[in-house]
Amino acid sequence: MASDNITDLPRTEDEWRVRLSPEEFRVLRQAGTEAPWSGEYVNTKTRGMYHCRACGANLFPSDFKFASDCGWPSFDDAIPGAVKEIEDRSHGMVRTEIRCARCDSHLGHVFHGEHFTPKNTRHCVNSLSIRLEPAGD
Ligand SMILES: [Zn+2]
Repeated sequence: MASDNITDLPRTEDEWRVRLSPEEFRVLRQAGTEAPWSGEYVNTKTRGMYHCRACGANLFPSDFKFASDCGWPSFDDAIPGAVKEIEDRSHGMVRTEIRCARCDSHLGHVFHGEHFTPKNTRHCVNSLSIRLEPAGD
């Protein structure tokens, strides 16, 4: 597992490329998107903590995961301060990109006002951007 020492993080994209698989690199470092329904965590209900696959930071407890039927893992909240939001005007839309606040890797997008859950927020996350650590109990 990645340690909490931020100096362990790669400093260049070439260093990230060595650490990640080609698919992970494309999503995490080049803001790619995996095909809907293709990710390993779309329907996962296992309890645990979802970490950033690039740096290991805690991002989304499984308690925040809900069935959005959108084809990607969806969370209605994140660990406070773990995720940063950036305006994304690519593809002719104005969306809000979410990245890991620790290592700046791409996670997905966040949407508000869809009324899926009382928090009214959907963090739409690539499975390739996260790694589930199942709860130990
Ligand atoms: Zn990270």
